[in-house]
Amino acid sequence: MATSVPTTSVKKDAHPFNRETLEGLLAKRFFYTRAFEIYGGVAGLYDYGPPGSALQANIIEFWRKHFIIEEEMLELDTTIMTVSDVLKTSGHVDKFTDWMVKDVKTGDVLRADHLVEGVLEARLKGDKEARGLKAQVAPVTDADKKKKPKKNMKSVAVQLPDDVVALYESTLAQIDNYTGAQLGELIRTQSILNPDTGNEVGEPVEFNLMFESSIGPTGQIKGYLRPETAQGHFVNFSRLLEFNYGRVPFASAQIGRSFRNEISPRAGLLRVREFTMAEIEHFVDPLDKRHARFDEAKDIVVGFLPKGVQESGRTEIIKMTIGEAVAQKIVDNETLGYFLGRIYLFLTRIGINPARLRFRQHMKNEMAHYAADCWDAEIHTSYGWIECVGCADRSAYDLSVHSKKTGQKLVVRQALPDPIIVERWTAEIEKKLFGPRFKKDAKAVEDAIMALDEPRLVLLNGELVKGPTKLKLDDGREFEITSDLLTIQKKTFKETVREFTPNVIEPSFGLGRILYSLLEHVFWCRESDEARGVLSLPSVVAPIKALIVPISSNEVFTPFIRQISAQLRKAGVACRVDDSSASIGKRYSRNDELGTPFGITVDFATVQNGTLTLRERDTTDQRIGKTEEVISLVIDLVDGRIDWAQACEKLPAYTGVQDVE
Ligand code: AMP
Repeated sequence: MATSVPTTSVKKDAHPFNRETLEGLLAKRFFYTRAFEIYGGVAGLYDYGPPGSALQANIIEFWRKHFIIEEEMLELDTTIMTVSDVLKTSGHVDKFTDWMVKDVKTGDVLRADHLVEGVLEARLKGDKEARGLKAQVAPVTDADKKKKPKKNMKSVAVQLPDDVVALYESTLAQIDNYTGAQLGELIRTQSILNPDTGNEVGEPVEFNLMFESSIGPTGQIKGYLRPETAQGHFVNFSRLLEFNYGRVPFASAQIGRSFRNEISPRAGLLRVREFTMAEIEHFVDPLDKRHARFDEAKDIVVGFLPKGVQESGRTEIIKMTIGEAVAQKIVDNETLGYFLGRIYLFLTRIGINPARLRFRQHMKNEMAHYAADCWDAEIHTSYGWIECVGCADRSAYDLSVHSKKTGQKLVVRQALPDPIIVERWTAEIEKKLFGPRFKKDAKAVEDAIMALDEPRLVLLNGELVKGPTKLKLDDGREFEITSDLLTIQKKTFKETVREFTPNVIEPSFGLGRILYSLLEHVFWCRESDEARGVLSLPSVVAPIKALIVPISSNEVFTPFIRQISAQLRKAGVACRVDDSSASIGKRYSRNDELGTPFGITVDFATVQNGTLTLRERDTTDQRIGKTEEVISLVIDLVDGRIDWAQACEKLPAYTGVQDVE
């Protein structure tokens, strides 16, 4: 009969992580697959199957609770197809590029930074192997370097001189900081070849990552598939502000698809051409970047990799609290620090191993020119450290450029407690002269003058004193302006309202990267059998929370199964019945691979005594209890109100005696 025993401890690191085994499991259980597989597939496009879709949906659901609901964010769903004007203004049309190089013989295209990174890493690996083997130091000549990594950047055990090792290590620590010209220089000086062919590659050239399209049957309106969801927030800023009663700070949030025509996507879900993003735009007063809930995040300890450390060619992680990092100005401001803390909590609560999570600061060249500070949440995987969440302070850049382009004010207006007197340069147009002089273009010229900011008005004034000058419009047309057309002067104003463009703090999540990294972190194989893989997904994201398994196909179990699944469903617990003919052990193994945390066995004791056995995935412990009690415990376990050890205090261990049919 049942007796109480302590829960079993599990050795999850009995077998080293093997990516091929995990990928085999994910393919077998249809987590995801290459899109259009039966047509040969296309690199960088993937379809998610039932467990992958459910896992992603659960991550999204938790994200919505953790951010949108918890922080009262304003959710948006804006269009994917974006008119080119918007992306021209945001800078994507001109600057959303990566550097690519071409194999001089085959024409194959490679991403320049990835090529350099892959080859240098392989050479360093070869060096380590050689040093481990105590091999002779090979003199490194240019010809030797050319011989080294051949196919697929495989390492070759060749020891490198110490100064070359130091150069490679420092280059890799700053790989995201190089310009195209610098990458070209590295490729030449380090004799880097296409590892797939052994051929030389040409100079890096810029490649725009956006997918171009056209809108409407005549193709007159140029468009792009959006490369991020952010612009949809900015163009709706005024409406969002009004929805928030005209007050900042507030945040908008959006979950949706984005598209990037990656140069050579290779690393599975980590680099794809179509992916789901979850983005937050937190609008804040530039003069006050404190956060009302900073206290809740300040004591969280995270690993930081600041830019200074990387720029000196090192990669050691500094552990400290968010509060310390902000106080020491390692992180620019409280709001940015608060979000780093919330990102940390989100990732670790869905199952990311905190020891394999770090926050890396962007270096100077890497960061957009307008950004005040930027940190990436990077997760360690078998592919190395992967940027999974970007968190940038984008200053007032986006709202300012859209405002300038459209002439719409994208500002916050705050009533001042006491009026203030300010002096400002202003322009006044001589309307009587404008019409006859510029005719149909009068309005455009007037608008262009009125849109000039103070420094440019002062400049124009200086030019007009000397004589006629040219004014260039945004569309490229130029008009001659003379001093009789307008008066530019400094005027005094009494202001009762402060008007400002808010700054934006943007946490930006790539869900596919998080999903794949999570799968690596929770995957392990049973000590007793390397072929038995388990995904220890936390209940909150597990595709199915409970498996209901009848001990045999006897029809006597049917009403019990129906009743249990109905009760679980009613409580919002996703469950599944496995009444296939496979042995019970097989059925449980299959669900360990799907990450199902709990199994409920229906057997003859259920029929006779109203008991159920409850199995926990990781320990494979089985407990027994009355049907109602087991169901309510499963609901509590899945909702995170209790853990397995607490459940074991309530239910005695199952000894298996009742199993006999
Ligand atoms: P970014 O706007 O480049 O900072 O990207 C924001 C987030 O989107 C990153 O942190 C990634 O998680 C994700 N991401 C960017 N590019 C890709 C890609 N090609 N495939 C998958 N996820 C991506």
